[in-house]
Amino acid sequence: MSKTHNILILPGDNIGHEVMEPVKKLITYFKNKGARFEVSEDVVGGTAYDKHGVSLHDSTLAAAKAADVVMLGAVGGPKWDKVDYAQRPEAALLKLRKELDLFANLRPAIVFDALLDASTLKPEVVKGLDIMIVRELCGGVYFGEPRGISDLGNGVRKGVNTQVYTTPEIHRVARVAFELARKRGNKVCSSEKANVMESGRLWREEVIKLHEAEYKDVELTHMYADAVAMVLLRNPKSFDVIVTDNLFGDILSDEASMLTGSLGMLPSASLGSSSGGAPDKNGKQNAMYEPIHGSAPDIAGQDKANPLATILSFAMALKYSLGMPKECAALERAVSKVLEQNIRTMDIAAAGVKPVGTQAMGDAVLKALQNV
Ligand code: NAD
Repeated sequence: MSKTHNILILPGDNIGHEVMEPVKKLITYFKNKGARFEVSEDVVGGTAYDKHGVSLHDSTLAAAKAADVVMLGAVGGPKWDKVDYAQRPEAALLKLRKELDLFANLRPAIVFDALLDASTLKPEVVKGLDIMIVRELCGGVYFGEPRGISDLGNGVRKGVNTQVYTTPEIHRVARVAFELARKRGNKVCSSEKANVMESGRLWREEVIKLHEAEYKDVELTHMYADAVAMVLLRNPKSFDVIVTDNLFGDILSDEASMLTGSLGMLPSASLGSSSGGAPDKNGKQNAMYEPIHGSAPDIAGQDKANPLATILSFAMALKYSLGMPKECAALERAVSKVLEQNIRTMDIAAAGVKPVGTQAMGDAVLKALQNV
């Protein structure tokens, strides 16, 4: 009998609630087809602050750690702008990432044929684009010590951040990239600045070591991060999986995702560990799935938000955490079909076509899924 998977739904704030409704219907659909999901829901972000006085309650964190999949909507909004920094909605997100040790951030950039026009690049450059950026999320210059601003006197100040990586940190994220590549185009491009940074040199040497030891069947190339930034615009289809550190990954994943043209379409996954770098002995690996967009307070409560980024994030959960790759492919096909039928929310609507609302879009995907 297949294992029961725990899914924790954290809609968050504003449109987070709206874009999560279609996902709940999809979960019910798969349960009715025999999937063994145990589903719970909780509050996070501003909504949690309003209820508990903290943006991430201890019990919610415990539930997230116990879950196989955390499905997050989005958090934040002007309502909580004056809340103490430690209890701001966004702080809940950072704490979840840190406590679940979500060290590998997966950001796919996929261009759907029906949305070719949404990209600012020429159609021939992005048509059929399907690349994956794996960004290290728990280390590097955003966390390295020493850090801070000091006063050197005479009106001179000094700002310091430290780029630091250790062998296990490099290995565990590179391993995620190699494993992903094996299920895709079998190519990994590892990116750093080994020409000018020791941490980059270590990164390159360790990726090569791991490749030699365990992943010789995967094609491995290396490219300086500035070169990757250029090639992403000139010939993005030459990549399959790109693995890089926290800082370069922050920038390159934003650049790559914008090749596709629309914020409402972009999913993400963050994979962690339960025992320091890999799935634990029961195969459990912490994982959180979320759209890359924010809580869009400007359109909240109006049924205008595009739920596809959240739906595609759930598709990633099916593939990477729930052992349901076929169902993932079917869901992604359903999204494609809906777009081909010119069913669009406001943000991706074609000229002259009346946009549909969030829930109608979700229902269209569900209907298409039932027919694929
Ligand atoms: P945003 O992503 O919420 O919105 C930017 C623009 O894109 C807005 O015009 C919005 O209407 C539009 N948009 C976003 N998602 C959309 C969707 N699914 N469909 C259609 N249009 C969409 O970014 P922002 O306005 O800078 O931030 C709003 C709040 O969200 C802030 O409090 C911010 O801190 C928070 N935020 C949260 C996350 C997260 O939870 N992961 C990420 C980014 C921003």
